[in-house]
Amino acid sequence: MTREDCEALDRADPLARKRDAFVIPEGLVYLDGNSLGMMPRHVPERLAEVAERQWGRDLVSSWNLHGWVDMPRRVGDRLARLIGAPSGSVIAGDTISVNLFKLLGAAAKISPGRRVILSDSGNFPSDLYVAQGFRDLLDDGYVLKVVAPEEVADAIDETVLVSLLTEVDYRTARRHDMAAVTAVAHAKGALTMWDLAHSAGAIPVDLAGAGADFAVGCSYKYLNGGPGAPAFLYVRPDLQNQVQPPLAGWFGHESPFAFDLTYRPAPGIIRNQCGTQPILALAALDAALDVWDDVDLETLRAKSVALCGTFIDLVEQRCGRFGVSLAGPREMARRGSHVSLHHPEGYAVMQALIASGVVGDFRAPDMMRFGFTPLYTRFTDVWDAVEALTRILDTRRWDQPQFRNRKAVT
Ligand SMILES: *Cc1c(COP(=O)(O)O)cnc(C)c1O
Repeated sequence: MTREDCEALDRADPLARKRDAFVIPEGLVYLDGNSLGMMPRHVPERLAEVAERQWGRDLVSSWNLHGWVDMPRRVGDRLARLIGAPSGSVIAGDTISVNLFKLLGAAAKISPGRRVILSDSGNFPSDLYVAQGFRDLLDDGYVLKVVAPEEVADAIDETVLVSLLTEVDYRTARRHDMAAVTAVAHAKGALTMWDLAHSAGAIPVDLAGAGADFAVGCSYKYLNGGPGAPAFLYVRPDLQNQVQPPLAGWFGHESPFAFDLTYRPAPGIIRNQCGTQPILALAALDAALDVWDDVDLETLRAKSVALCGTFIDLVEQRCGRFGVSLAGPREMARRGSHVSLHHPEGYAVMQALIASGVVGDFRAPDMMRFGFTPLYTRFTDVWDAVEALTRILDTRRWDQPQFRNRKAVT
């Protein structure tokens, strides 16, 4: 493969025009949209309108006048299409960590006899921390059992309350088979809870088809909702009215403005909302979702597979001799939309890459991570990134003190 081949792939790319919807700094090869997505061009204007006209002029009337009060549900419905969920089953707000806590509480009330929260050692640490905090708060025999990712299905038995899994591993991009794991769980009477942080906007997700019980995800990665954008949560429609929210707040009350002294949950997904949600952040996310309106997720997946496959092929051809190796499975069918490479000096190599204009990130202990966001990544970006990586490894340009200095965010 040559750079000309990559140029030809870009010319044939049905998503190529989507790149124009984003602000893209000149000369930058940005392969970190799996950590913070790029900004859609029209978002600042929409934010200015919400700030100046709605907040500035209409003030508190905007809750009714501009529909602020329904925003978490409306934005949730827009997210639902991207994750194979029916309307009315997703609500936007809070963070993944907070939403996991809420849903663990819901699961515990739905299946009161069960005490094992099952997760895997590839899970995102915050998900495990939330489960640990939940277990310790309840102090009632709950156990967090963590097994290897390949052992999850075998570990599901009649003691398991819920499997708490991230569909696409944040480091290796290894993908769980959501439908298969859910089927095993249901056969044993267990619930499933899926973290879609590296799935939503990265791969087609079919929560309804898989029969998943609960899911959470964030919107600042592949969905481009902006730094700290609201997360979302999903509850299977027939479970929604069984949920007793552990964070029972007034925005999840049946009638918040009755100011009743007793909590009564709102019907459906709304009860999972706790307090007042960040309207400016929701407005940015709502605007960012416009970019997705005409995106076909199978087309997105095909491009993602081609981008990741091209990157892996080129890295294997050109960088193998420098001690670089692929993390996670080789077959694209078992992967998400990012690629991590092991290298003993991964942190310094990534810092040198960033200094050369190719932005990825680093995940401990030794992984350089590259996200391939099909809406704005080009095949020529893949080529240029591998070219820069090869040069840095070949010249050992990474071997300098300024590239070893660990920053707070890696
Ligand atoms: C990014 C990420 C999160 C983020 O959680 P927040 O509570 O929203 O900060 C959670 N889980 C996974 C797998 C992630 O990659």
